Amino acid sequence: MTVREILILPDKRLRQVSDPVKKIDASLRKLVADMFETMYDAPGIGLAAIQIGTSKRVVTMDLAKKEEAKTPQVFINPEVTWSSTERATYEEGCLSIPEVYSDVERPAQVKVKYLDLEGELLEVEANGLLATCLQHEIDHLNGILFIDHLSKLKRDRIVKKFSKAAKRAAE
Ligand SMILES: [Zn+2]
Repeated sequence: MTVREILILPDKRLRQVSDPVKKIDASLRKLVADMFETMYDAPGIGLAAIQIGTSKRVVTMDLAKKEEAKTPQVFINPEVTWSSTERATYEEGCLSIPEVYSDVERPAQVKVKYLDLEGELLEVEANGLLATCLQHEIDHLNGILFIDHLSKLKRDRIVKKFSKAAKRAAE
């Protein structure tokens, strides 16, 4: 397992649409292991493969609190099949946009179908933090970031700040 580098805004790869996984093989299992290692190291509760530069539709997640036992979850080719009209607001953050937190409104409940690491097709009905986290991570697979759900003014301000920082770091 390897802790991989997390791509940071405004890295263009974060805007790529990721490809579906066709085969669950050793290289995919290695990717998932690296994703967990990277996510726990950060630390974060969710990670999409594109955040470590691999354009595959894979999400890792662990919503356990610090003092609780780990509950690693993998979602391969996840897809929202239903969302509630009821909406909920959570303060979101993202490992690719460090230290920025903002309220985002999304459907309060979603159904998501996905494959597990054994290739079994499953469906989860999610609410609360899991619903938010799944939607945030599935957005990543489509090149969408949580700041895209904010007002243009707020988003532009954040992008500008990170673009400046990237320019400074490159000098
Ligand atoms: Zn994110």
